[in-house]
Order: sequence, then C-alpha cells, then structure tokens
Amino acid sequence: SRSEITYFGAGPALLPTEVLEKAAQALLDYNGTGLGIAEHSHRSELATNIINEAKSDLATYLDFSAQDYETIFLQGGGTGEFAASVYNLVGAWVARQHAALLKANPGADEATVVAELRKKVESDLKLDYIVTGGWSLKAYQEAVRLLGPEYVNLVADARTVNDGKFGRIPDQSTWKLSKNAALVYYCDNETVDGVEFPEFPSVLTPAADGTGPIVVADMSSNILSRRIPVSNYSLLFFGAQKNLGSTGVTVAILKKTFLPPTTAQPSAALMRKLGLPIPPIVLQYEIIAKNNSLYNTLSIFDVYVAGQVLKRLLQTFPDKVDGQQALAVKKAGLIYGALDAYPEVYKVVPDKSVRSRMNICFRVTKNGAVDEAEKTFLKESTAIGLTGLKGHRSVGGIRASNYNSIPLEGAEKLAKFIHDFAKA
Ligand code: PMP
Repeated sequence: SRSEITYFGAGPALLPTEVLEKAAQALLDYNGTGLGIAEHSHRSELATNIINEAKSDLATYLDFSAQDYETIFLQGGGTGEFAASVYNLVGAWVARQHAALLKANPGADEATVVAELRKKVESDLKLDYIVTGGWSLKAYQEAVRLLGPEYVNLVADARTVNDGKFGRIPDQSTWKLSKNAALVYYCDNETVDGVEFPEFPSVLTPAADGTGPIVVADMSSNILSRRIPVSNYSLLFFGAQKNLGSTGVTVAILKKTFLPPTTAQPSAALMRKLGLPIPPIVLQYEIIAKNNSLYNTLSIFDVYVAGQVLKRLLQTFPDKVDGQQALAVKKAGLIYGALDAYPEVYKVVPDKSVRSRMNICFRVTKNGAVDEAEKTFLKESTAIGLTGLKGHRSVGGIRASNYNSIPLEGAEKLAKFIHDFAKA
C-alpha cells in the first residue's frame, strides 16, 4: 500500500498524500460546486483564481518579484521549452537589432532595413549552450535542429573533461561564451547524470546596471529545492512532475522586459525574410502571457495540484524555500554519507563538486560484479518498500531521486538500507 513504500522515481515523482487526497475530492466536487475541478471551464472565475494564487504563491515561496517577472503555465513539458526558449529569445534578439537599426537610420526604407538585419543575423546571431548532461545535450540538439548549427555555439561540453562521460562541470574559465548571445543556456540539475550546479555560474552574473548575458536555465528537477537568484535570469522553466505537481503543466518564469511593451516579437513576415523560424502560437510567451496562460485550454487540475503543493510548502516552512533547502541538504547528506562509507561497494557517479542533491546516481559492486550486485540491491530495496531506484535506461546503475516529497524518514530508511546492504 501507499503507506508502505517510499518511491524514489525520477519523475513523475511522489506527491504528498494530503495533496492527493484533497485533489481526489476536488476531482469529484470542487468547493461544493457539484462539479469537479477538471470539469469546470478554464474560463471560469474559479479557474482564474487557481492560476493567480499559484502564481503568487510561487513568487512568495521563491522570493522573486512578480512586478519584474511573469509566470506562465504551458503545455509541452521541458522538451517543449527547449524549443520555446529558442523561438522566443531569437525573436527578442531580432526585435532588439531591428529597433537599434531603426534608431540609427530613422528614414531608412524597409528593404534596406531587412538587408541590414539579414547581415546582422548572419554575422552575429548566436545561441550559447553549456552541456553538462543528457538534458542540456537534448536542448542543444533541439536548437541545432530548429536553427541550424551555424547559429548554435557549444560553450562547453562536460564530457571533454571526464573521459567522454558526464559527471563534471568544466571550469568556467574555459567556457567559450559568444558576444551578445541571444541566450546562454544551461541545465541547473541533470536528472539522468546526477550533476547539479553548486551555485549560479559566476561568469554569467549581470553587471551592476543589470546588463549581462541572457541566461536561460532548465530547473525541471531542482526547482523549489533551493534559493535561486531569480533576478540573474531572463528565463527559468520547469515541468511540474518532479518537485511541483502532476505531469501536464510546465512553468516558465520570464523577465518582463522580454514582453511588450519593452519587447514585441517580430512579425512572421519579417522572420520569414530573415530565414528564421517563428514559434507555434502555443509556444509564444507573449501570447500566453497576454492571456494569463489561457490562450487555449489549460489543465486547471494540474495547476490546482501545483498550487496545493506550494501551499503545503508555505505552511511547512515559515522561512519558505530556505527551509526546504536545509532539509534537502540534510537528506542528501544522509544518503551520500552512507554511500561514501563503503568505497569498496558503492561508487557515486558524478564528481564530489557537482553532486546533485536531487538525483543521487551511483554504482554498486560486490566482488567486482556490478550487474549482479545492482540487481540484488534493487531486489532487496524493493522488498522493504524502497522503490523506483533503477537508474535511467541510458546510463544504468542506481538513482535515488531525493525530491521535496521524500520525507526525512524516507531518506533515513534508504541510508540505513545502504549501510545494511554493504555490511551484509
Ligand atoms: N529537463 C530535465 C532536467 C528533465 O529531467 C526532463 C525530464 N525528466 C526534461 C527536461 C524533459 O521534460 P519533459 O519530459 O516534461 O519534456
């Protein structure tokens, strides 16, 4: 039964039981309306209230300014955002170049402006990617697929400093950043490889006047687990299915200067003349933001679940994300501590400097046999209710996903099993 297991799956992840109980009731009858939350119109006032409350609780919990940042709910998952970030920030880059050209040549005719813009695109348009694991690699590949390799710059590839495998973050002094890139992209926590940036990369810090690189981060698997300097980012995104809620809704936190009135996406006609793609409308942030995430039908149920998770976090931790962060560090410390105590049995996959607090990836050996030892480890852990520990199919091994919903007792139980297994 549910109370007998602790599920360490990488996503979809465990959700707090109280939230599910409340959501189950809301599915049948939301607030005594006689109609379930998944049946109510997404255009109803109650749906709008659910969206607005979730937005406001997210800003409170993460401590960012809702004046400066817009939160939007999208569909298409993290994978959809690999594309959306490209389309929207290339559009914003073109809009900036266009405005600068018009300012410098007030009387110029359209054909001249387009010709100049084309030259600018060919010589200067660059998207920067820092590849530190399977997910940032996928995002990089999507940018190459959508735009062509000539526009995409591989700032650093972590495999080059770790024998062809992910598990380290190349020193920032070696990063080859472009000048005025349309975006600089990285994945804050690599779910498959267990690599997490220990902190915001200092080379990307904005200047005192706020100017600096346009930083985009995928925070799908560590959002809500630690304090982040939101004002250093232009765009943050995350799917809900790990720390936020149920699968089906994706969140983007976007700096408002990328939206009208400061920035308007270029027209489809102009982008076609420049040979650049325009986003499908459901991925165009400007449209989704203008409609408060209701341009088309949004799963209000998923926003509701996310909202309930946020309310529970705010109730549990008076110091908000800092409280959750302390707990996440404590839980990860217990598990890594147990692994490190038996170097002859366990090998943590990533380097110590970049170990993820959320996805703890390790190998198990006994008498030199990895496969057999890991099979036994999985069988015995499952037997005592510790489930979902199998590593991602692309890398194998064991992965304990230590998301927010894993209680301290769950981490303690896993740490104890790691000790017991090694000693047996
Ligand atoms: N980024 C990260 C860090 C992820 O862990 C995942 C999914 N596990 C994705 C992106 C892709 O998300 P989705 O499956 O929602 O497209």
